[in-house]
Formats: sequence, structure tokens, C-alpha cells
Amino acid sequence: MDDSMTGYSSITQTTGARAAAHTVMLLAALFGCGIGVPAEAHIGVGPAHCTPLPGAQTWLDRHVTLWDPVLSQERGYQRPDRVTVCVLEGSLPFADNRTNRLYVRGLDSTNDQITLAHEYVHIAFQHFPSGHDERYVERTARRLIATHP
Ligand SMILES: [Zn+2]
Repeated sequence: MDDSMTGYSSITQTTGARAAAHTVMLLAALFGCGIGVPAEAHIGVGPAHCTPLPGAQTWLDRHVTLWDPVLSQERGYQRPDRVTVCVLEGSLPFADNRTNRLYVRGLDSTNDQITLAHEYVHIAFQHFPSGHDERYVERTARRLIATHP
């Protein structure tokens, strides 16, 4: 747990760091401290607390419909019932699989869109290995934004 948190705080928020950050979270889960302990243990935001990000929510709802036919061709895809976009108060965007919530900073750039799509893919493939494969998740997110900006 301590090692994971140390790794977390040393990661700066860049596109490249996103995969690394999630790997840290995944490792934390593998070693037990992520199970039953929400992701806020790493970044200070809890699944019990969600400040909706209204513009991003509308955007996601619209894009989920557009992405559905694309993702349906991928193994392991399970369209979530409802995914809520919350304001990120910590430093690193993440998806909470238990509550189907995404925590992101905003939706002001293409990179923000990719980030949101990335976290959505984590949830949509959470029951399949690809949903835990950061390279797959990032590649899929970029493909979704490229085809449905
Ligand atoms: Zn990720």
C-alpha cells in the first residue's frame, strides 16, 4: 500500500502517465489494498462523493450510443446501465467499477475526451481481461474519439 501510494504521488498528469497510474491501482488491487478500499485511498476522492460534471455527462450519454456498435464488436464488452461523470478533485482520473462512476477534470480538449473515453472503456470491459489492459484501453479510447469526436 505504501509503495503504491508513493508511486501515485510521483506521477504527473500526462497522457503517458495515465496508463502507469492505472497500473499502480491495478497492482494495489492485486495486492489487496485496493479491494474494499475505494480508489480515493490513492487520490483523496471517494465513490460516496460525486459532484456531477453536467456538460461531460451529456457528452458521454450521447457518445455511449455512438460507441456501442463499435464496442459491440470487441470481446468482453458489456454496456453499463448508467455511467455517471463526476468532478475529479484528486490528481488522476479514474473509473470506479463498483459505482460506475468516472472521475475526470473536465472536457475542454481532445485529450480530455480521450481520458473520459478511457475511463468508460475500463468500466465497459471491467469483467474481461482487456478492461485491465491499459494499452488496450487507451488504444480503444483513442479509436473511439478518432471516429466519433
Ligand atoms: Zn486506465
